[in-house]
Formats: sequence, C-alpha cells, structure tokens
Amino acid sequence: MKGYIPAEKIEEVKTKANIVDIVSEYITLKKTGRNFVGLCPFHREKTPSFTVNPEKQIFYCFGCGEGGNAISFLMKLNNVSFPESVRHLAAKLGITIPVRQMSEGEKRFLSEKEKFSRINQMAAERFRKNLSSDMGEVARDYLKKRGIDDSVVRSFGLGYSPEGWRRLKDYFSSMGIPLELVRKAGLVITNDNGQSYDRFRGRLIFPIVDLNGNIVAFGGRGIGKEEPKYLNSPESPVYIKGNTLYGLYQTKGEISKKNNAIIVEGYLDLLSLWSVGTRNVVATLGTALTRNQVELIRRFTRNVSIIFDPDEAGRSAVERSLKLFLEEEMHARVVILPEGYDPDDYVRKFGREALENVIVQSPPMVDYYIEKIIGGDNTLEENVDSVKDSISFIRNISNLVQRNLFIKRVSEKLGIDQGLMKDEVNKARVGSQKFARQGESPKKETEKVDIVELSLIHMVIEYPDRIPVVVNEKIFGYFLSNGLREVGEALIESLNRGEIKNISDVMNDLPDSSIKEELLKLAMVERPFNREVIDRVLDDTIKKIRLKWYKKRRKSIQGELIRAQRMGDTGLCERLVMEKGRLLKEEKMLQA
Ligand SMILES: [Zn+2]
Repeated sequence: MKGYIPAEKIEEVKTKANIVDIVSEYITLKKTGRNFVGLCPFHREKTPSFTVNPEKQIFYCFGCGEGGNAISFLMKLNNVSFPESVRHLAAKLGITIPVRQMSEGEKRFLSEKEKFSRINQMAAERFRKNLSSDMGEVARDYLKKRGIDDSVVRSFGLGYSPEGWRRLKDYFSSMGIPLELVRKAGLVITNDNGQSYDRFRGRLIFPIVDLNGNIVAFGGRGIGKEEPKYLNSPESPVYIKGNTLYGLYQTKGEISKKNNAIIVEGYLDLLSLWSVGTRNVVATLGTALTRNQVELIRRFTRNVSIIFDPDEAGRSAVERSLKLFLEEEMHARVVILPEGYDPDDYVRKFGREALENVIVQSPPMVDYYIEKIIGGDNTLEENVDSVKDSISFIRNISNLVQRNLFIKRVSEKLGIDQGLMKDEVNKARVGSQKFARQGESPKKETEKVDIVELSLIHMVIEYPDRIPVVVNEKIFGYFLSNGLREVGEALIESLNRGEIKNISDVMNDLPDSSIKEELLKLAMVERPFNREVIDRVLDDTIKKIRLKWYKKRRKSIQGELIRAQRMGDTGLCERLVMEKGRLLKEEKMLQA
C-alpha cells in the first residue's frame, strides 16, 4: 500500500505538516510552556493529558499512552491506513499526489470509506451545479427568502436536487460508477420491483461533513410540498447517525475561539445564525443529542448553550442532554426562545444582538432543571416523586461541586433537609459507581522498561550526531532489554543507510509498545541534558549500562560455577573461574 505514494511526496507531507495545526482541527489545544495540551480524543478524560510537542512534531497522551506523529495521529483518529492518512494530509497542505501512478491492483485496495467519500463528493458537485443552473432558480429564490446569501451557500456547499427520478442515478452510471455503490451511499433507492431512483428529488441539499472535511451524508429540505419536509441520507459505511454534528467542520475554529458552542436543531437555524455573524454553532440534525456528539463538541469547548423548541419533545430532549453534559462535566445553558420562535425566525426578526443577549441571559442548567423539570407548586405526592427523580438525576453528576450545587438547590426548592438529600444521593451513587467507571479507559498495562538503557536511546534520538559514538562503543550489545536493543540497532541501521532520523520518524517506525510510550513521554519533557554536557552524560550512561551488564554476567557465571561444581566438572569450573576473574578485572577498570 505504502508503495503507491512516491517517497518524496511522503517526505514533503511530513516536512510541511504542522502537528499543532492538524491536531487543532480535532481538539482545542492550549499552549503550556513548550508544549500544547488538550483533552485526549482517544480516551475519555476530564483534565487534559494529551500533549503535543511542536518542536519535535510528536504527540503523546499521558492518560492512555497513545502517541506518534501527525500521520499516525490521523491514522488512529480516523482508523485509516498509512497512505490514506498521508493523502488526507497532502490534500490539506495542497500537495498533489499523482493518482495515476496507482496500478489497477492498488486501486482495488482503496478502502470502502474512501470510495463513499468520492461518490459523495461527486454527488455534492452535481448538486452544487444544479443550484447555480437554470433548474436551481426555485431553490435560489427560497434561499434568498430565508436570507441565506451566496457566501453561505459556498461555505457550506449547498446544492439542489431538481424534480426527477433518475438524474443522479443516470449521472453516476454515465461515469461508470456501479449502482450498488451509489445505493450503499444512500443516494439511490431500489424498490421492491427492482426499480432504482434518486433519493433526493426537489430538495435543497445540505452536505454533512465530518471533521476531516469528507462529505459523509446529505440532508435534503423540500422546498415545495415534498413530504417529509426533511430527509437525510440513511446510515452508510461512512455515516452513523449521532456521530456527526452539522456545521462543526466549518464552525469548530470559532467554537474554540469563543470557547462556547451554540447547539441548534436544524440546518437552517445554523445557517441563519452564521449569516448574521454568530458562527460558533452546531446543529444536531434533528435527533436528540448523543454522547458521541457531546464528546465531539467537548474537544473544542466545555461551554454550550442549547437552544431548543419549547414543546414537550424539546423539553425531554433537553433533559436527556443535560444528563450527558453533567456526566461529561460540561457547562450548559438552556436557551428558551419566546413561544413560537425558532432560532431562524428569531434572529431574522430581532437580529443577532438580541439573540446573543437571550443566550447570555439564559439560565445555567441547574436553574433550568429546577424550574422546568421539578416545576412550581407541587402537591406533597408530586414532591415525593420529584425527590426520587432528582436523586436518580443527581447521582450521575460526576463533579462533586456540581453535585453539591444541585443537592443544595433541589433541597431548597422541595423544602427538604440538605443533609438527608445528600445521604440519599450518596447511597444511590454507590450502586451506580461501578457502572460509571467502566466508561473511563484506564491506562494500558505497561511492562517495565529499563530506565538507563531507555535514556541512552533517548539521548541519541535527541542528538543523532552522537550515534557514531554509541556505534564505536558497541553499547547496544550490552543492553539487557531485547526491545531496546532492537530500537538501538534500528537507529544504527538507519544511520548506515544515510538517514539520520528525527524523533518523529523514529516514533512512527516503532511498533506500539511500552518502549515507544516511554520514549514519547521522555520526548515531551524538557531535554534533561543540554549540548554542553551531553558527552559527559552519554559517557556516564554508557558506563552504567556496561557495569550493569557485568554485574548480571558475573551473577550468571556464579550460578553456572555452582552447577559445574555440583556435577564435578573440574574443566568447566576452571574455565568459569578464569572468565569470572577476567570480568572482574574489566569491571574494576571500568569503575576506575
Ligand atoms: Zn489519551
């Protein structure tokens, strides 16, 4: 697979890729000293331990131990192969990788995911062309009426699927794309009679883009009398409902900058807000917020403002999302618009400032919960139910401060003793805790790595110009750890091939192991030795490694000697005694 991207292109991608920029597309990073930190996308965590070192172009998570360079970051995050990750980066960096160099065999290797992305890309282009053509007039008029201008259309790649049953189907067949693939991508439907036709007809089209910028699905809104009003792509190998948020790809930068995300329900709500300049918005695509979606937002901010329809369905959707926000330790405000308004209507009628005011003044979720969920004047019986409900709600709040705040406010509201409420919550928590912990992925089991040998490897990785020194000393032969010896030998080999590797390359070539983890960990902290003292430290370390080897060797010779004596093998005894003497002499010389 690796073969079909020319080596110099891979090099170019590696040189031009900036790991901080790349990782920032997926999580918010904050600078701390020389490194950047953020919440790890590979395991659930509350405090950032995911660390990026811009100087060395590597990342390492102190929580779960994932680490590597920009290419392996994308491989792990997107679960893609090396060439896919390289090509993805190349596209971002504007580096063209010749596609024609692929042989037919290699083309077949193209992953399914990539095939669907291309089909969706082709469909999106088709939809866009339709929108700007004569056929698209009705859709353009509609957008104009909704106050959505050309720049928004371009930013979100909006399109149009005109009336007609086979436009897209015929287009794909004229391009030689198998119908089966187009159907799997959800663009064509086949009915029971075996007839195939376009899924989207007479609709405004909203491409749904994942964080990599790949179109994974489409949303369609009828602009005539089409039923249903909204129609989405079905799930496909690239699209899982509840794993994507509409607009996040375009708005993540603003969300990160403002450190707040406004959550709306529909495409048009998002586009209206974007049009008036409120750009830290995502849309849930009409379903209740899922944990995966909350985790996606959480990569960029922990503050959300959720706007919802004030009907019963909306209310219970909010209650469900509150639970998620509390579990994920996010701060949520619940924005309630005046009866009959959705964000789109509201912002068009009153403008951006009015909406942003409503958002700023909206209650934090604890207030919302108490007012709307527990409610006003209750009967005693209703209060008992409310206590029960709120205990099962509060027990899931993982943050102690938040939990106590809820306990205080709820007990005040219901007029019950705070201490009593706390006891009840704690009792309920004991039962649920085992459960809650399962979500956290614990640090991987790591085998112990020899610190001295490891630090020698670390030194020559940081100072590749010292590799000849360790080659001369043949020090890797004295390593007691096989794994580390292999790493050392690989370094020498690459030197012999004339490639002095940088740490990012070395990391990428290592298989996932505790050695790799330890090396990454070391690489993340300040160099423990500067250039002036490196030779001395290197000498010391080499000596330590040798001494350790002698000590171990002596011990094992001692063992052999005892065995030989027991067996009465005098010849062997003699040889071993001599060997032991020689080792001792060498050891003494070393220590001198
Ligand atoms: Zn992690």
